Amino acid sequence: MKIIVGNWKMNGNLGEKESMLSALQSIKTNHKVILCVPFPLIYGDGFGTNIGAQDVSNHENGAFTGDVSAQMLVDAGVKYVIVGHSERRLYHNETNEIVREKATIAIKHGITPIICIGETMEEKNAGHTISVIKQMLMESIPDNGEYIIAYEPRWAIGSGLTPTNNEIVTAVKTIFDTLPQPMPILYGGSINQSNAHDIASIPYIDGLLIGGASLKSETFIPIINSVD
Ligand code: PEP
Repeated sequence: MKIIVGNWKMNGNLGEKESMLSALQSIKTNHKVILCVPFPLIYGDGFGTNIGAQDVSNHENGAFTGDVSAQMLVDAGVKYVIVGHSERRLYHNETNEIVREKATIAIKHGITPIICIGETMEEKNAGHTISVIKQMLMESIPDNGEYIIAYEPRWAIGSGLTPTNNEIVTAVKTIFDTLPQPMPILYGGSINQSNAHDIASIPYIDGLLIGGASLKSETFIPIINSVD
């Protein structure tokens, strides 16, 4: 059983969510499928698919216009939330410290955070991938509770580029060895139907985080079906 997470980012509408859920319902899979949709699409029955969020506030409640609290996500039936996605880190200045606070508050409310970490192309080219991953990991993970790590090289997201299998195994083994206790580790970044099987089979990989290819059932379902 692998964990396969779709990240719709700021895409989709209610009709598209409903047709994705009915397409997902029509297949038989042993994998845990989690669909992380924009906040207004969260409500409603997931029909066997876990509906996740893409962010959560690091505060319990209060004067934080535009933010959504962990308790609100719980009330909406959410069990998983992505935190520290590279687009949040880049466009919303989220630091490792904020990511850690978000992961901690999610866990406190019974939601499993999917904590994203990954190096930029500049860091990779400078040979700093492993040190960057270790630092991001140690500064972003909470002290207690269960969480999922998503290794997403920033340069691989939405670019059509992926690391070599050797680069991925080196990175995820580093994560595995650095974590204080074993937690599931996903890979994310330009996953498609042609590379999903091979990447999901790499040692230490417990699943995939998929952006663009999760938007349409024509691309998402073949990926789910291709993973052992
Ligand atoms: C993502 O958004 O986390 C992601 C991996 O995107 P993509 O699959 O489009 O590269």
